[in-house]
Amino acid sequence: MTAKILDGSAMAKEIRAELAEKVAKLKSERGITPRLSVILVGEDPASVTYTRMKKKACEVAGILSDLIELPADSTQAQVKEIISKLNADPSVHGIMVQHPVPSHLDELDILASVAVEKDVDGISALSLGRLVLGTADYISCTPQGIVTLLDRYNIPIKGKEAVVVGRSIILGKPAALALLERHATVTICHSRTVNLPDVVRRADILVAAIGKPEFIKGDWIKEGAVVVDAGYNRVEGKGHDVGDVDFEAAAERASWITPVPGGVGPMTIAMLLSHTVKAAEKYAK
Ligand code: NAP
Repeated sequence: MTAKILDGSAMAKEIRAELAEKVAKLKSERGITPRLSVILVGEDPASVTYTRMKKKACEVAGILSDLIELPADSTQAQVKEIISKLNADPSVHGIMVQHPVPSHLDELDILASVAVEKDVDGISALSLGRLVLGTADYISCTPQGIVTLLDRYNIPIKGKEAVVVGRSIILGKPAALALLERHATVTICHSRTVNLPDVVRRADILVAAIGKPEFIKGDWIKEGAVVVDAGYNRVEGKGHDVGDVDFEAAAERASWITPVPGGVGPMTIAMLLSHTVKAAEKYAK
C-alpha cells in the first residue's frame, strides 16, 4: 500500500474535543447549552443505530439532545406539527429529521418545514438553494465532513479535477457543490454515466457516494489521486463493512485514501455536532 490514510476517526475525535471546549465556554459565559432535536419516524434498524450514535456523541460533547421517536404510521401533519413546535422553541438550536422517512410521507416537504437557522443537517430546499448561491450556513453533514477532512489534512482543492460518483440530495449533489464552491473543477457521475472508469481516471480528488460495495476498481484510480469513500455497505460473510471503492487496490495508486469504516462516517457525526454548536453560538449573538 502506498497511500496515506485520511483518518476520519482521529480527526473527528479532535473536532469533538474542540467542540466540548466551545460548549463549556457557551455554558459558563452565556448560560447557553447547545441542544439538538433528532426526529426518527419508524424503526428502520440502520436509522435507529445512527440516531443513537448521534445522541451518544452529543452527550459526550456536553450538547443536549432529544431523540423524538414517532411511529412509522405518523401522518405528514403530525410530523410537521412537531417540527413547528421545535422551530418555535428557543432552547432548541438544531433540528434533524433522520433520513429516510417512511415512503408514505413527503420527505422534501417535511425537510422544508425545518427553520433554516436550525437546519443543521443542511438538506432543506432553502439550505440547498443557499448552497447553490454560495451563502449556506450549514452544508449537509457528510459533504461538509469530506471537505473538512481534506482541509484538516491540508489537501488542496482549488483547481483540482474532482469527480463525484453519486448525485443524491444528501451526499453526491451537495458534495459536488461544496467542492465547486472551493474552486475544484467538478464532474458529477451517476448510473447513466457513459464510460465511468475513464471519467474516474481523470480525478485528482474522487468522492465515491454510490452505495455499491467495492464498485470502483483500483485501475480506475489516477496515480496520486485523493480517494474519499463515503460508501458504507454491509456484505454478508465479509466480517466488516466495506466502502464503494476497492480499498486494497486503490491504495496502491492513491496518495491519500479514507478507510471504511473510520473515514467519512465519523466526520459526519462530528459535523452535526459542530453545526449545532455553531447554531447555538449564532443564537447567543
Ligand atoms: P443513493 O441515494 O442511493 O444514491 C446513490 C447514487 O449512486 C445515485 O445518484 C446513483 O445514480 C448512483 N449510482 C448507482 N449505481 C451507479 C452506477 N452503476 N454507476 C454510477 N453511479 C451509480 O445513496 P446515498 O444516500 O447517496 O448513499 C451513498 C452511499 O453513501 C451509501 O453506501 C450510504 O450508506 C453512504 N452514506 C454514508 C454516509 C456517512 O456518513 N458516511 C452518509 C450518507 C450515506 P442515479 O442518481 O442515476 O440513480
